[in-house]
Amino acid sequence: MVNERLTIAKVLIAGAPGAGKTSLVHSLIFEGFTEVAPTIGVNFAQKVCRGEAGPVNLSIWDLSGQPRFQCLMPRFCQGATGVILVVDVTKSRSLDTAGQWLEFISSFNNVQQEFAVVLAGNKGDLPAVLSQKRIQLFCARHNIMEYIQCSAKTGANVRVVFDSLCSAMQRKHLVLTTSSSNFAQSPT
Ligand code: GDP
Repeated sequence: MVNERLTIAKVLIAGAPGAGKTSLVHSLIFEGFTEVAPTIGVNFAQKVCRGEAGPVNLSIWDLSGQPRFQCLMPRFCQGATGVILVVDVTKSRSLDTAGQWLEFISSFNNVQQEFAVVLAGNKGDLPAVLSQKRIQLFCARHNIMEYIQCSAKTGANVRVVFDSLCSAMQRKHLVLTTSSSNFAQSPT
């Protein structure tokens, strides 16, 4: 058996309820759009995505945006080194909730551990109310290097969002290397 080196990373999908977090992951995994059931607590998926330094096997934890599940979140967030922060470009309050999520995750994710963040402006197939100016200010305030508008519905830029997060994690050395004998690989 060939013992290949694999890179792995745990990433969180966070943002306001209804921003399209579950649809985004569904679109990545199944390359299509369907009406998804609301997330109860957390959803889990695995996918190999491709950063600029090569493939990364992502374990993707899609967090429920509902406040009643927040007590579960610290446990699920442990060890994550990447975050896709999803905002709904058709809702102006979406950025405020995203900011609260980021502070929430930062407050209990291993204090010394840095993590990479990509801001995903979902529902790009609909007319946007979030201005570029507000998005730029938000990214500057939270030190977010990358904003990508996407649509879980049309599939536009969905793969780009995840691949960009892989690149950002690779640049910051936030992916782990392991051997294939320790890890079951998911389909690309
Ligand atoms: P979550 O609560 O953040 O996980 O959001 P969901 O994935 O459950 O999506 C909330 C609603 O937005 C659902 O009715 C989806 O069909 C819809 N939705 C999600 N992504 C898109 C998108 O890219 N475009 C449009 N038009 N609707 C979307």
